[in-house]
Amino acid sequence: MSKQHPETRAIRLQTEQTSQKEHATPMFLTSSFTYESATDMAAAFSDDSLDVNIYSRFSNPTVDEFVAKVAALEGAEDGIATATGMAAVFATFMTFLSKGDHIISASAVFGSTHTILTKFLPKWGIEYSYFDMAEPASVEALFRPETKMLYVETPSNPGLDIIDLGWLAGLCKKNNVMLVVDNCFATPAVQQPISYGADLVLHSATKFIDGQGRVLGGVVVGRKELIHPLYLFVRNTGPSMSAFNAWVLTKSLETLYIRMEKHADNALKLATALQGHASIEWVKYPFLDTHPQHAIAKKQMSNGGGIISFEIRGGITAGQKFLDALEMLSMTNNLGDSRSIASHPASTTHSKLSEAERAAVGISPGLIRISVGLEHVDDIKADILQALAKSQA
Ligand SMILES: *Cc1c(COP(=O)(O)O)cnc(C)c1O
Repeated sequence: MSKQHPETRAIRLQTEQTSQKEHATPMFLTSSFTYESATDMAAAFSDDSLDVNIYSRFSNPTVDEFVAKVAALEGAEDGIATATGMAAVFATFMTFLSKGDHIISASAVFGSTHTILTKFLPKWGIEYSYFDMAEPASVEALFRPETKMLYVETPSNPGLDIIDLGWLAGLCKKNNVMLVVDNCFATPAVQQPISYGADLVLHSATKFIDGQGRVLGGVVVGRKELIHPLYLFVRNTGPSMSAFNAWVLTKSLETLYIRMEKHADNALKLATALQGHASIEWVKYPFLDTHPQHAIAKKQMSNGGGIISFEIRGGITAGQKFLDALEMLSMTNNLGDSRSIASHPASTTHSKLSEAERAAVGISPGLIRISVGLEHVDDIKADILQALAKSQA
Protein backbone atom coordinates (compact mmCIF):
# COMPACT_ATOMS: atom_id res chain seq x y z
CA MET A 1 0.00 0.00 0.00
CA SER A 2 2.89 2.36 0.76
CA LYS A 3 3.67 2.45 -2.97
CA GLN A 4 0.45 4.34 -3.70
CA HIS A 5 0.83 7.88 -4.98
CA PRO A 6 -0.01 10.66 -2.51
CA GLU A 7 -3.03 11.63 -4.67
CA THR A 8 -4.38 8.13 -4.12
CA ARG A 9 -3.63 8.16 -0.37
CA ALA A 10 -5.55 11.45 -0.06
CA ILE A 11 -8.58 9.69 -1.50
CA ARG A 12 -8.39 6.10 -0.25
CA LEU A 13 -6.91 6.36 3.26
CA GLN A 14 -9.71 5.44 5.66
CA THR A 15 -8.93 4.63 9.29
CA GLU A 16 -12.40 3.46 10.41
CA GLN A 17 -15.46 1.78 8.95
CA THR A 18 -18.47 0.84 11.10
CA SER A 19 -20.57 -2.35 10.86
CA GLN A 20 -22.74 -0.49 8.31
CA LYS A 21 -19.86 -0.63 5.81
CA GLU A 22 -20.50 2.96 4.75
CA HIS A 23 -18.47 4.15 1.78
CA ALA A 24 -17.91 7.73 2.90
CA THR A 25 -15.89 8.14 6.04
CA PRO A 26 -18.08 8.07 9.18
CA MET A 27 -18.24 11.07 11.50
CA PHE A 28 -17.68 10.17 15.15
CA LEU A 29 -19.54 13.00 16.90
CA THR A 30 -19.02 11.86 20.47
CA SER A 31 -17.39 13.55 23.42
CA SER A 32 -16.11 10.34 24.96
CA PHE A 33 -15.71 6.59 24.46
CA THR A 34 -16.83 3.60 26.56
CA TYR A 35 -15.12 0.42 27.84
CA GLU A 36 -16.06 -3.24 28.24
CA SER A 37 -14.67 -3.45 31.78
CA ALA A 38 -13.02 -1.57 34.60
CA THR A 39 -9.76 -3.29 33.65
CA ASP A 40 -10.02 -2.01 30.05
CA MET A 41 -10.81 1.47 31.33
CA ALA A 42 -7.84 1.41 33.69
CA ALA A 43 -5.62 0.26 30.82
CA ALA A 44 -6.80 3.14 28.61
CA PHE A 45 -5.68 5.62 31.24
CA SER A 46 -2.43 3.84 32.08
CA ASP A 47 -0.32 5.50 29.43
CA ASP A 48 -0.33 8.75 27.49
CA SER A 49 -0.59 7.15 24.06
CA LEU A 50 -3.20 7.66 21.35
CA ASP A 51 -3.86 3.92 21.02
CA VAL A 52 -7.25 3.91 22.77
CA ASN A 53 -9.81 6.66 22.34
CA ILE A 54 -10.81 8.10 25.72
CA TYR A 55 -12.18 11.58 25.20
CA SER A 56 -12.38 13.70 22.03
CA ARG A 57 -10.14 16.41 23.46
CA PHE A 58 -7.41 13.69 23.43
CA SER A 59 -8.25 11.83 20.22
CA ASN A 60 -11.15 10.96 17.94
CA PRO A 61 -11.27 8.53 14.97
CA THR A 62 -12.52 11.17 12.49
CA VAL A 63 -9.77 13.56 13.55
CA ASP A 64 -7.25 10.68 13.34
CA GLU A 65 -8.19 10.06 9.72
CA PHE A 66 -7.65 13.71 8.80
CA VAL A 67 -4.25 13.70 10.52
CA ALA A 68 -3.22 10.38 8.93
CA LYS A 69 -4.00 11.77 5.49
CA VAL A 70 -2.04 15.00 6.01
CA ALA A 71 0.89 13.01 7.43
CA ALA A 72 0.83 10.69 4.39
CA LEU A 73 0.76 13.66 1.99
CA GLU A 74 3.58 15.48 3.78
CA GLY A 75 5.70 12.31 4.11
CA ALA A 76 5.57 12.56 7.92
CA GLU A 77 5.47 9.80 10.54
CA ASP A 78 2.75 11.32 12.68
CA GLY A 79 0.69 14.45 13.36
CA ILE A 80 -1.75 16.30 15.58
CA ALA A 81 -4.81 18.35 14.59
CA THR A 82 -5.85 21.62 16.22
CA ALA A 83 -8.93 23.84 16.21
CA THR A 84 -7.29 26.52 14.02
CA GLY A 85 -4.05 27.25 12.25
CA MET A 86 -3.05 29.65 15.01
CA ALA A 87 -3.59 26.92 17.61
CA ALA A 88 -1.10 24.79 15.61
CA VAL A 89 1.44 27.65 15.62
CA PHE A 90 0.93 28.43 19.32
CA ALA A 91 1.01 24.77 20.43
CA THR A 92 4.29 24.32 18.52
CA PHE A 93 5.88 27.35 20.19
CA MET A 94 4.62 26.42 23.67
CA THR A 95 5.68 22.78 23.42
CA PHE A 96 9.25 23.37 22.27
CA LEU A 97 10.22 26.80 23.64
CA SER A 98 10.95 27.58 27.30
CA LYS A 99 12.01 30.62 29.28
CA GLY A 100 15.45 31.77 28.11
CA ASP A 101 15.12 30.20 24.65
CA HIS A 102 15.45 32.08 21.38
CA ILE A 103 13.54 31.69 18.12
CA ILE A 104 14.55 32.97 14.67
CA SER A 105 11.74 33.76 12.26
CA ALA A 106 11.33 35.29 8.85
CA SER A 107 9.87 38.78 9.31
CA ALA A 108 7.29 38.06 6.60
CA VAL A 109 4.89 35.86 8.57
CA PHE A 110 1.13 35.73 9.08
CA GLY A 111 -0.13 38.66 11.20
CA SER A 112 -1.18 36.62 14.24
CA THR A 113 2.09 34.66 14.18
CA HIS A 114 3.88 38.03 14.23
CA THR A 115 1.77 39.02 17.26
CA ILE A 116 2.65 35.81 19.16
CA LEU A 117 6.36 36.27 18.40
CA THR A 118 6.54 39.95 19.30
CA LYS A 119 3.88 40.38 22.03
CA PHE A 120 3.33 37.05 23.80
CA LEU A 121 6.61 35.09 23.70
CA PRO A 122 8.63 37.97 25.25
CA LYS A 123 6.21 37.99 28.23
CA TRP A 124 7.38 34.45 29.00
CA GLY A 125 11.08 35.22 28.55
CA ILE A 126 11.38 33.83 25.02
CA GLU A 127 13.31 36.11 22.65
CA TYR A 128 12.89 36.33 18.88
CA SER A 129 14.99 37.64 15.98
CA TYR A 130 13.66 38.43 12.53
CA PHE A 131 15.48 38.02 9.23
CA ASP A 132 14.50 39.30 5.80
CA MET A 133 13.57 36.53 3.33
CA ALA A 134 14.95 38.71 0.53
CA GLU A 135 18.40 38.36 2.16
CA PRO A 136 18.41 34.77 3.39
CA ALA A 137 22.15 34.70 4.18
CA SER A 138 21.49 37.29 6.92
CA VAL A 139 19.96 34.48 9.00
CA GLU A 140 23.36 32.89 9.61
CA ALA A 141 24.45 35.68 11.98
CA LEU A 142 21.35 35.24 14.17
CA PHE A 143 22.01 31.79 15.62
CA ARG A 144 22.83 31.82 19.35
CA PRO A 145 23.57 28.99 21.78
CA GLU A 146 20.02 29.36 23.14
CA THR A 147 18.34 29.30 19.68
CA LYS A 148 15.88 26.38 19.65
CA MET A 149 13.68 26.96 16.61
CA LEU A 150 13.69 28.54 13.17
CA TYR A 151 10.30 29.42 11.70
CA VAL A 152 9.36 30.27 8.09
CA GLU A 153 6.44 30.41 5.70
CA THR A 154 7.33 29.67 2.08
CA PRO A 155 5.69 31.13 0.08
CA SER A 156 5.00 33.78 2.71
CA ASN A 157 1.67 35.50 3.39
CA PRO A 158 1.10 37.98 1.77
CA GLY A 159 4.54 38.78 0.28
CA LEU A 160 5.01 35.45 -1.59
CA ASP A 161 8.67 35.36 -0.56
CA ILE A 162 10.33 31.99 -1.02
CA ILE A 163 13.31 30.44 0.75
CA ASP A 164 15.46 27.45 -0.21
CA LEU A 165 14.26 24.77 2.22
CA GLY A 166 17.15 22.37 1.63
CA TRP A 167 19.71 25.09 2.34
CA LEU A 168 17.84 26.30 5.41
CA ALA A 169 17.43 22.76 6.81
CA GLY A 170 21.19 22.19 6.43
CA LEU A 171 21.90 25.39 8.36
CA CYS A 172 19.46 24.38 11.12
CA LYS A 173 20.98 20.91 11.39
CA LYS A 174 24.47 22.41 11.71
CA ASN A 175 23.24 24.64 14.55
CA ASN A 176 21.10 21.94 16.17
CA VAL A 177 17.94 24.02 15.74
CA MET A 178 14.45 22.73 14.92
CA LEU A 179 13.11 23.90 11.54
CA VAL A 180 9.35 24.58 11.50
CA VAL A 181 7.64 25.39 8.18
CA ASP A 182 4.16 26.86 7.75
CA ASN A 183 3.21 25.15 4.46
CA CYS A 184 -0.21 26.76 4.23
CA PHE A 185 0.29 28.58 0.90
CA ALA A 186 1.78 25.63 -0.98
CA THR A 187 -0.08 22.68 0.64
CA PRO A 188 1.47 19.18 0.49
CA ALA A 189 0.07 18.83 -3.04
CA VAL A 190 2.70 21.35 -4.18
CA GLN A 191 5.60 21.16 -1.69
CA GLN A 192 6.72 18.70 1.03
CA PRO A 193 9.15 20.52 3.37
CA ILE A 194 9.98 17.32 5.31
CA SER A 195 11.61 15.90 2.18
CA TYR A 196 14.02 18.89 2.34
CA GLY A 197 14.81 18.33 6.03
CA ALA A 198 12.15 20.33 7.94
CA ASP A 199 11.42 18.92 11.42
CA LEU A 200 7.80 20.04 11.70
CA VAL A 201 5.31 21.23 9.09
CA LEU A 202 2.15 23.02 10.06
CA HIS A 203 -0.95 24.29 8.31
CA SER A 204 -3.94 26.46 8.65
CA ALA A 205 -6.35 23.84 7.27
CA THR A 206 -8.85 26.71 7.04
CA LYS A 207 -7.29 27.74 3.73
CA PHE A 208 -6.58 25.51 0.70
CA ILE A 209 -6.99 22.26 2.69
CA ASP A 210 -10.67 23.02 3.28
CA GLY A 211 -10.70 24.91 0.01
CA GLN A 212 -14.29 26.06 0.28
CA GLY A 213 -14.23 28.54 3.13
CA ARG A 214 -16.38 26.46 5.52
CA VAL A 215 -14.46 25.43 8.63
CA LEU A 216 -11.41 26.37 10.71
CA GLY A 217 -8.66 23.89 11.42
CA GLY A 218 -4.95 23.36 11.92
CA VAL A 219 -2.48 20.49 11.82
CA VAL A 220 1.18 19.83 12.67
CA VAL A 221 3.10 16.85 11.27
CA GLY A 222 6.58 15.45 11.83
CA ARG A 223 8.52 12.66 13.56
CA LYS A 224 6.72 10.67 16.28
CA GLU A 225 9.13 11.82 18.98
CA LEU A 226 8.21 15.47 18.25
CA ILE A 227 4.48 14.90 17.83
CA HIS A 228 4.09 13.12 21.18
CA PRO A 229 4.91 16.19 23.33
CA LEU A 230 2.71 18.29 21.05
CA TYR A 231 -0.11 15.80 21.53
CA LEU A 232 0.28 16.06 25.32
CA PHE A 233 0.16 19.88 25.07
CA VAL A 234 -3.03 19.85 22.96
CA ARG A 235 -4.63 17.05 25.02
CA ASN A 236 -4.13 18.98 28.26
CA THR A 237 -4.62 22.58 27.16
CA GLY A 238 -7.58 21.93 24.86
CA PRO A 239 -7.19 23.49 21.35
CA SER A 240 -8.36 20.19 19.80
CA MET A 241 -10.03 19.87 16.41
CA SER A 242 -13.75 19.02 16.39
CA ALA A 243 -14.84 15.76 14.73
CA PHE A 244 -17.21 17.71 12.52
CA ASN A 245 -14.45 19.95 11.17
CA ALA A 246 -12.17 16.92 10.72
CA TRP A 247 -14.90 15.18 8.71
CA VAL A 248 -15.24 18.20 6.39
CA LEU A 249 -11.47 18.48 6.05
CA THR A 250 -10.81 14.79 5.41
CA LYS A 251 -13.28 14.92 2.50
CA SER A 252 -11.62 18.14 1.30
CA LEU A 253 -8.26 16.36 1.08
CA GLU A 254 -9.72 13.99 -1.53
CA THR A 255 -9.86 16.88 -3.99
CA LEU A 256 -6.74 18.78 -2.83
CA TYR A 257 -4.49 17.70 -5.71
CA ILE A 258 -6.97 18.43 -8.46
CA ARG A 259 -7.95 21.74 -6.86
CA MET A 260 -4.34 22.91 -6.45
CA GLU A 261 -3.62 22.11 -10.10
CA LYS A 262 -6.55 24.26 -11.21
CA HIS A 263 -5.80 27.08 -8.72
CA ALA A 264 -2.22 27.18 -10.03
CA ASP A 265 -3.21 26.95 -13.68
CA ASN A 266 -5.64 29.86 -13.27
CA ALA A 267 -3.12 31.84 -11.20
CA LEU A 268 -0.31 31.47 -13.74
CA LYS A 269 -2.60 32.50 -16.61
CA LEU A 270 -3.85 35.50 -14.65
CA ALA A 271 -0.37 36.60 -13.50
CA THR A 272 0.92 36.34 -17.06
CA ALA A 273 -2.01 38.38 -18.40
CA LEU A 274 -1.49 41.13 -15.81
CA GLN A 275 2.23 41.53 -16.46
CA GLY A 276 2.93 44.87 -18.10
CA HIS A 277 -0.60 46.22 -17.47
CA ALA A 278 -0.54 50.05 -17.43
CA SER A 279 -2.27 50.31 -13.99
CA ILE A 280 0.12 47.85 -12.33
CA GLU A 281 3.71 48.45 -11.18
CA TRP A 282 4.60 44.77 -10.79
CA VAL A 283 3.04 41.32 -10.52
CA LYS A 284 4.42 38.63 -8.21
CA TYR A 285 3.82 34.90 -8.61
CA PRO A 286 6.30 32.11 -7.78
CA PHE A 287 6.18 30.58 -11.27
CA LEU A 288 6.67 33.87 -13.17
CA ASP A 289 10.31 34.20 -14.17
CA THR A 290 10.29 37.77 -12.81
CA HIS A 291 9.81 36.43 -9.22
CA PRO A 292 13.08 37.09 -7.33
CA GLN A 293 13.26 33.48 -6.07
CA HIS A 294 11.82 31.90 -9.21
CA ALA A 295 14.60 29.30 -9.52
CA ILE A 296 14.07 28.11 -5.93
CA ALA A 297 10.30 27.97 -6.47
CA LYS A 298 10.81 25.77 -9.54
CA LYS A 299 13.12 23.48 -7.56
CA GLN A 300 10.94 22.87 -4.51
CA MET A 301 7.35 23.46 -5.70
CA SER A 302 5.47 21.42 -8.32
CA ASN A 303 3.44 24.48 -9.31
CA GLY A 304 3.20 28.12 -8.23
CA GLY A 305 0.16 27.74 -5.96
CA GLY A 306 -3.03 29.79 -6.00
CA ILE A 307 -2.00 33.23 -4.75
CA ILE A 308 -0.76 36.16 -6.80
CA SER A 309 -0.02 39.70 -5.71
CA PHE A 310 0.43 42.95 -7.58
CA GLU A 311 1.12 46.59 -6.84
CA ILE A 312 -1.57 48.86 -8.20
CA ARG A 313 -0.54 52.36 -9.32
CA GLY A 314 -2.00 55.04 -7.04
CA GLY A 315 -1.35 53.52 -3.60
CA ILE A 316 -3.98 53.17 -0.87
CA THR A 317 -6.67 55.17 -2.71
CA ALA A 318 -6.36 53.16 -5.91
CA GLY A 319 -6.32 49.93 -3.88
CA GLN A 320 -9.63 50.79 -2.24
CA LYS A 321 -11.16 51.96 -5.53
CA PHE A 322 -10.11 48.64 -7.07
CA LEU A 323 -11.87 46.64 -4.32
CA ASP A 324 -15.02 48.76 -4.63
CA ALA A 325 -15.14 48.26 -8.40
CA LEU A 326 -14.99 44.44 -8.28
CA GLU A 327 -18.21 42.80 -9.41
CA MET A 328 -17.50 39.08 -8.98
CA LEU A 329 -14.43 38.63 -6.78
CA SER A 330 -15.20 38.45 -3.05
CA MET A 331 -13.96 41.14 -0.68
CA THR A 332 -12.97 39.06 2.34
CA ASN A 333 -9.80 38.25 4.23
CA ASN A 334 -9.89 34.47 3.82
CA LEU A 335 -7.91 32.73 1.09
CA GLY A 336 -7.66 29.33 -0.54
CA ASP A 337 -11.32 29.20 -1.50
CA SER A 338 -12.96 27.92 -4.70
CA ARG A 339 -14.20 31.53 -5.06
CA SER A 340 -11.62 34.14 -6.08
CA ILE A 341 -10.89 36.69 -3.38
CA ALA A 342 -9.24 40.11 -3.49
CA SER A 343 -7.72 41.80 -0.47
CA HIS A 344 -5.82 45.02 0.16
CA PRO A 345 -3.63 44.52 3.25
CA ALA A 346 -2.58 48.20 3.65
CA SER A 347 -6.17 49.36 4.26
CA THR A 348 -7.35 46.24 6.17
CA THR A 349 -5.27 43.54 7.93
CA HIS A 350 -2.21 45.80 8.24
CA SER A 351 -3.90 49.23 8.49
CA LYS A 352 -2.80 49.69 12.12
CA LEU A 353 0.89 49.51 11.20
CA SER A 354 2.85 52.57 10.10
CA GLU A 355 3.94 52.72 6.47
CA ALA A 356 7.51 51.90 7.57
CA GLU A 357 6.32 48.90 9.61
CA ARG A 358 4.28 47.71 6.64
CA ALA A 359 7.28 48.07 4.37
CA ALA A 360 9.33 45.96 6.78
CA VAL A 361 6.90 43.04 6.37
CA GLY A 362 6.70 43.54 2.60
CA ILE A 363 3.38 45.37 2.37
CA SER A 364 3.34 48.36 0.03
CA PRO A 365 0.41 50.83 -0.16
CA GLY A 366 -1.02 49.44 -3.42
CA LEU A 367 -0.44 45.75 -2.70
CA ILE A 368 -3.39 43.64 -3.83
CA ARG A 369 -3.51 39.94 -2.99
CA ILE A 370 -5.63 37.71 -5.18
CA SER A 371 -6.53 34.23 -4.01
CA VAL A 372 -7.25 32.79 -7.40
CA GLY A 373 -10.30 30.53 -7.31
CA LEU A 374 -11.65 27.77 -9.49
CA GLU A 375 -13.97 29.88 -11.68
CA HIS A 376 -13.25 30.11 -15.42
CA VAL A 377 -10.04 32.12 -15.66
CA ASP A 378 -11.52 34.47 -18.27
CA ASP A 379 -14.24 35.54 -15.83
CA ILE A 380 -11.69 36.23 -13.07
CA LYS A 381 -9.54 38.17 -15.52
CA ALA A 382 -12.46 40.21 -16.88
CA ASP A 383 -13.49 41.32 -13.39
CA ILE A 384 -9.93 42.31 -12.43
CA LEU A 385 -9.38 44.22 -15.69
CA GLN A 386 -12.58 46.25 -15.40
CA ALA A 387 -11.83 47.05 -11.72
CA LEU A 388 -8.26 48.08 -12.63
CA ALA A 389 -9.64 50.54 -15.17
CA LYS A 390 -11.93 52.08 -12.53
CA SER A 391 -9.17 52.20 -9.90
CA GLN A 392 -7.34 54.90 -11.84
CA ALA A 393 -10.34 57.21 -12.39
C1 LIG B 1 -4.55 31.88 7.94
C2 LIG B 1 -3.14 31.56 8.23
C3 LIG B 1 -2.75 31.13 9.50
C4 LIG B 1 -3.73 31.06 10.67
O1 LIG B 1 -4.70 30.08 10.49
P1 LIG B 1 -6.17 30.15 11.16
O2 LIG B 1 -6.78 28.85 10.71
O3 LIG B 1 -6.84 31.36 10.62
O4 LIG B 1 -5.98 30.22 12.64
C5 LIG B 1 -1.43 30.80 9.71
N1 LIG B 1 -0.52 30.89 8.70
C6 LIG B 1 -0.86 31.31 7.46
C7 LIG B 1 0.18 31.40 6.41
C8 LIG B 1 -2.18 31.66 7.17
O5 LIG B 1 -2.51 32.08 5.95
